[in-house]
Amino acid sequence: MIERADDGGRRVARGLLEMSAGNGRSGAQPDVDVVIAGAGFAGLYLLHRLRELGFTAKVFEAADDVGGTWYWNRYPGARCDIPTTDYTYSFDPALETEWTWSEKYATQPEILRYLDFVATKYDLRRDISFATRVDAARWDDDAALWRLRVSNGTDVTCRYYVMATGCLSLPKEPDIEGVGTFAGELYHTSRWPHEGVDFTGKRVGVVGTGSSGIQSIPLIAAEAAELTVFQRTPNFSFPAHNGAIAPSRRAALAADPAAYREAAKWSRGGIPGEPPQLATFSVSPEERQARYEAAWEAGELFEMLGVFNDVLVNQAANDELASFLRSKIRSIVADPETAEALCPVDHAFGTKRPCLDTGYFATFNLPHVRLVDLRKHPIRAVTPTGIDTVDESFELDALVLATGFDAMTGAIVAVDISGRDGVSLKEKWAQGPTTYLGLTTTGFPNMFMITGPGSPSVLSNMAVSIEQHVDWVADCLADMRTSGFDTIEPTPEAESGWVHHVNDCADITLYPTANSWYMGANVPGKPRVFLPYVGGVDGYRGACDEVVSRGYLGFALSGPGGEQCNDGIVRRLQPDVAMVLEMMAALGLPTMETMTPADARAFSEAMAAERPPGPDVGETVDGVLPGAGGEQLAYRLYRPATPGPHPIVVYFHGGGWLIGSEVSDDPLCRDLCVRSGLIVVSVNYRHAPETRFPGAADDALAAVRWVADHAAQLGGAPGRLAVAGYSAGANLAAVVCQLARDEGGPDIAGQVLLNPVTDCDFSRSSYLENGDDYILTTVLMRWFWDNYADPADRTDPKASPLRATDLRGLPPALVVTAEFDLLRDEGAAYAEALAAAGVAARHLPARGQVHTSVGMVDVVLSGAPVRAEMAEALRGFFSDAR
Ligand code: NAP
Repeated sequence: MIERADDGGRRVARGLLEMSAGNGRSGAQPDVDVVIAGAGFAGLYLLHRLRELGFTAKVFEAADDVGGTWYWNRYPGARCDIPTTDYTYSFDPALETEWTWSEKYATQPEILRYLDFVATKYDLRRDISFATRVDAARWDDDAALWRLRVSNGTDVTCRYYVMATGCLSLPKEPDIEGVGTFAGELYHTSRWPHEGVDFTGKRVGVVGTGSSGIQSIPLIAAEAAELTVFQRTPNFSFPAHNGAIAPSRRAALAADPAAYREAAKWSRGGIPGEPPQLATFSVSPEERQARYEAAWEAGELFEMLGVFNDVLVNQAANDELASFLRSKIRSIVADPETAEALCPVDHAFGTKRPCLDTGYFATFNLPHVRLVDLRKHPIRAVTPTGIDTVDESFELDALVLATGFDAMTGAIVAVDISGRDGVSLKEKWAQGPTTYLGLTTTGFPNMFMITGPGSPSVLSNMAVSIEQHVDWVADCLADMRTSGFDTIEPTPEAESGWVHHVNDCADITLYPTANSWYMGANVPGKPRVFLPYVGGVDGYRGACDEVVSRGYLGFALSGPGGEQCNDGIVRRLQPDVAMVLEMMAALGLPTMETMTPADARAFSEAMAAERPPGPDVGETVDGVLPGAGGEQLAYRLYRPATPGPHPIVVYFHGGGWLIGSEVSDDPLCRDLCVRSGLIVVSVNYRHAPETRFPGAADDALAAVRWVADHAAQLGGAPGRLAVAGYSAGANLAAVVCQLARDEGGPDIAGQVLLNPVTDCDFSRSSYLENGDDYILTTVLMRWFWDNYADPADRTDPKASPLRATDLRGLPPALVVTAEFDLLRDEGAAYAEALAAAGVAARHLPARGQVHTSVGMVDVVLSGAPVRAEMAEALRGFFSDAR
């Protein structure tokens, strides 16, 4: 039964009568409930699940038999490169006891035998039409069903249409001039002859050095008289160390198979194991090297990708590992020039799919094997007799294209699919695929994709991801049947939210920096978007489960049972912000308003001691300056490494006027200094409750005046001053601008306000929406205000700058607000009021951020673009700044 969560989303449930009158259904019955395209790992399991649930289902498969990718990819050396113990079905414990894998990485024939065994065991073939493709699929909205045109000439109707067509199944069109003219034997690795190929005594050329090329080249070399490898981009590869299944893995699986499979489902990549905890540079060079060596010896993709937790997010960390891998290539390949040509240098490790090999690099030590570096010697054309590069002709008897696939979307849009209102999927995806959960796409009701774009798919153990998708789809159809629904379609809001989330996850990694097939970059003209979901199998499964538990959040459902739509977005926080919040929740930290101010300060300092330090600046100088009350206020000056004198930014820290110091936002100040190229002077001020309103504001003004008067002594450019601040510090920065305007200077060139307090009104929507869950809570904010200012004082513009009667003539401003911050709306209101008063004010909403996250340098990577804009704004106040 579909649980109808009441989460504030839109939901309409109507009776049968109203529904049948309203949706204009013709009442047509389809030929079958479900059509599945593809009889590989995904199609086979889906057929089995649907049958068990009592649905009628039909599979169309282009090949002559089951197997999908393992049917087609029969090239020499084809194996899986995820341990086969894990690259296997887990849905039936009986199946697991009946089949035993022979090696760590099974060969293509063995995997195909396994799929044949599965198809036979569950009697699947009787519902599969082989050598038959789905050519076209058209959604009939009146009848609420799909009309399919199938290559055997029949038309079939179904209620639900599922693409189980695989992520890497449509070979990339050969894009080498003259390839059709070759008169010798021409092969593509993914369309290998079933009878095999004998290269004995032949002159063979291989184009392509991805996984298929790297697996096949050593075996082709073993037969061929001469082998020439035409390499455009060298790839990272390391030894698979194939052989017996690791005893530890076999033992873990045998000890508790169910627990082992469950651990895989909730792991990052679909293989049991803890996510890495250590960062590359947190250990000594010796330990780093030892860990790299251990990963090299393990011969497993995820061991290398996860050798440290920052390999795929930190360029310097990645460079370190890449250097290690290149040193291995140099140690294997005898000829230095060939070794250099085999060393990948144009992409970060992991951003193109790394390969596991058996003797790949050593193959280039064989006398009859030659590497041609196409970067230096590009192919001019394939000729009838071989390949001409710009400077040499190669005579070949056989040419092997290992040139890859139109990945993730190719096989889906190869079917002529038209959805609601006749819109074709190809048109909809012209700028890149958009999906909800990688499972569905708006405008195409009742169509599902197994491991579609926007799901972990190719970044994970496919077997685990396929089972999760199949289970989700099958359970969904069963839920719908129980609830009387027969159409399902994601809403535009849910889909665009998921697309944002998929991109947000990718954008904090190095993946988008490479010209990879993950980015669609291998196919000329294909839009560059990151296709898979990088947030992990575990995180992804959590999102899919949550969608269901929240009443199919983001899906519109309808049918004889009525209509339902809990519209919404399942993942709205930036992924790294969500991670920080989860970690903090797990720590069970006390809330500050329950502490004394002294304890809250000590707590805050202890937390700050744990964070990364931020970037290096040219120099820091600590000093004191006189405050408004005669006390000395400490400051820290951050000077850029570039030659000065630089304009100066006076910065005020956050902390609710109670907590913090001139160094409490140290990483943020460093970051702003480096990014803007300006001097940042972070000034302390007297804190509440010891000094209540307007002490902090008076100190802030005094500090700005002192800095303006002493700019030259500080090494800055006199007369060139801006202010910035965060939270309560941004409140002070805004107040200072008003006071300086009204009370005789100094001149302030601009203000950058990060999540400012601009008003004392707690009734705005952002308080209501975000007051409980995102670190800065309503109770904490009340505690800050209570300590800082009497109720009567709070409406004073010196406390609530939004309440100033006149905002004209204030310095240009950038106001940043975090989406999940209770201060969001008052910040936005301030930006709007400034602009309305003629001030050059810009509002920058930081999507998916919380109050504290933008300033978390080197922790919340998604905050970096926001900080870059803040720095840019500061620089822009001094457009001729050096
Ligand atoms: P691929 O990784 O896309 O590699 C294709 C290779 O062909 C690249 O080296 C590419 O160079 C080159 N190439 C393409 N067009 C070319 C041209 N016009 N001129 C010269 N070179 C050209 O394809 P793949 O090796 O078939 O592997 C695809 C994916 O399938 C793998 O990444 C993996 O996910 C999966 N796979 C897995 C296994 C396994 O499990 N063991 C085995 C095979 C494949 P550029 O890099 O310069 O484009």
